[in-house]
Amino acid sequence: MERIRWIFVGQLGETFDDGGRMLLVEARSDLRRGPMHRAKAHLILSAIRHRAAELGDRAEFHQVENIDDIVAGRNDLEVIDPPSYAERTLARSIGAAVLPSRGFVTGEAEFTEWADARKGRPIMEDFYRWVRARTGILMDSDGSGNTPAGGQWNFDHENRQPPPKKAVSLGLPEPWWPEEDDIDREVRADLDRWQAAGEIQLVGEDGPRRFAATVGEAQRALDDFIESRLGDFGPFEDATLTGDWTMAHSLLSAPLNLGLLDPRQVIDRVEAEYRAGRAPIGSVEGIVRQLGGWRDWVWHLYWRLGEDYTDRNALGATEPIPRELLELDASAIEANCLSQTIGGVREHGWAHHIQRLMIIGNWALQRGYDPKQMNAWFIGMFVDGTEWVMPANVVGMSLFADGGIVGTKPYAAGGAYVNKMTDYCGGCRFNPKVRLGPDACPVTAGYWAFLDRVEPAIRGNFRMAQPLAGLRRLSDREQVVDQERRRTGL
Ligand SMILES: Cc1cc2nc3c(=O)[nH]c(=O)nc-3n(C[C@H](O)[C@H](O)[C@H](O)COP(=O)(O)OP(=O)(O)OC[C@H]3O[C@@H](n4cnc5c(N)ncnc54)[C@H](O)[C@@H]3O)c2cc1C
Ligand code: SF4
Repeated sequence: MERIRWIFVGQLGETFDDGGRMLLVEARSDLRRGPMHRAKAHLILSAIRHRAAELGDRAEFHQVENIDDIVAGRNDLEVIDPPSYAERTLARSIGAAVLPSRGFVTGEAEFTEWADARKGRPIMEDFYRWVRARTGILMDSDGSGNTPAGGQWNFDHENRQPPPKKAVSLGLPEPWWPEEDDIDREVRADLDRWQAAGEIQLVGEDGPRRFAATVGEAQRALDDFIESRLGDFGPFEDATLTGDWTMAHSLLSAPLNLGLLDPRQVIDRVEAEYRAGRAPIGSVEGIVRQLGGWRDWVWHLYWRLGEDYTDRNALGATEPIPRELLELDASAIEANCLSQTIGGVREHGWAHHIQRLMIIGNWALQRGYDPKQMNAWFIGMFVDGTEWVMPANVVGMSLFADGGIVGTKPYAAGGAYVNKMTDYCGGCRFNPKVRLGPDACPVTAGYWAFLDRVEPAIRGNFRMAQPLAGLRRLSDREQVVDQERRRTGL
């Protein structure tokens, strides 16, 4: 019997195509799983429909209410192991033939072997170096064994600079954007109709589609990143400017997570730029670290930490997500850093890493928003949000709800960090240096109130000894905590 390959969102590119027939299902119930950004709904539908059109006669394409309507009872399907627990369960429950997963630099079995052979907590940096040595990515051969290109594994001291002083943007060319076509117009009309009928509820703006929905567009986006932004990626990786929403980031996470680009393609291209002397090692290593390190790392942790990992709540954070975040209502937020970031998410369904981690994540950590809810919120609000990418990033790295599996300490920061790495504070009615009174910065005061609240849970963490010593030295600790309690209701 000839099997039909059932492909999932996340498997829409060439890596997942070995020829032969493909089953694609657009299920409307997927748009109702939780709060969802309209740009994300648009991107996913556009990508599925474009893929079906490209495959032509090779595609068996269905637009239905539920995926089960199409796959239940079939015995002719095979899958490349899909990227979420729910999809894996469904594929196995109908007896589909299962091939090993693809779309990452390292395989699942390889990672398990590596992690099982280690004693103690697996560490991303060790994994990253193992990936580099094993694959030869960005490695030089010096006769005595392999050494990392440029002589070191890490170029953080060159990277992660603050934004240029008094600049409103990095001054780079406008990124390449896709041109919408008839498929996009059809998707927009469908979403309008379903929303008007109350069948789906989406938030955020559905402006022109900004992220690649086809392999061809993903290649153009990659070319554009390499030509225009790669050189500045490393130095400004952590910097933020109000007038520059993309900075020098690649904007490739959505096409990567849709499966339109393979991470090895991106890695090989940036390495070739370095070898040709056209790109600095700091930027190239930065991208290799993000893709061969972080992206693979959070993928493997998703499976290793288990489906119930998102139930963890080491800091007892139970606050519901406020309306302003659920509705992406930036105008209702006074703190300029958060307002600007949420405004950007409202407009694009995207924010860069530091906005996600140090603005939204830090805010949610300080205020004790429920980690499981935040995980779902991030999945729904970001065009690149997936089930597998979020738990380690949100529950682990950002909210420290796992008590120290992904990170070694909470990523908590006060207004001084925001003031150093962004230009937000200049346009804010609060003062990042003030923790008490009408001008008190909610991020600075929130930092101390957070430490005060979680002190019993983190007292034993030696990396928190210094911040906690600072807390004990605060002369106005009680007043700051009271003030924040009144402001947040915590
Ligand atoms: C709270 C939080 C939520 C996040 N949500 C997502 C998400 O929904 N989807 C997503 O792909 N990434 C997510 N990330 C990781 C990272 O922020 C985004 O990948 C990145 O901002 C996407 O923009 P870019 O493509 O321009 O990335 P760049 O800054 O250009 O980085 C290059 C690539 O590296 C990969 N990458 C870098 N860091 C990570 C990471 N920590 N985890 C996984 N991949 C990484 C991405 O594929 C990205 O495209 C999240 C991080 C945090 C802290
Ligand atoms: S002053 Fe505080 S609230 Fe305002 S932008 Fe700076 S860190 Fe954010």
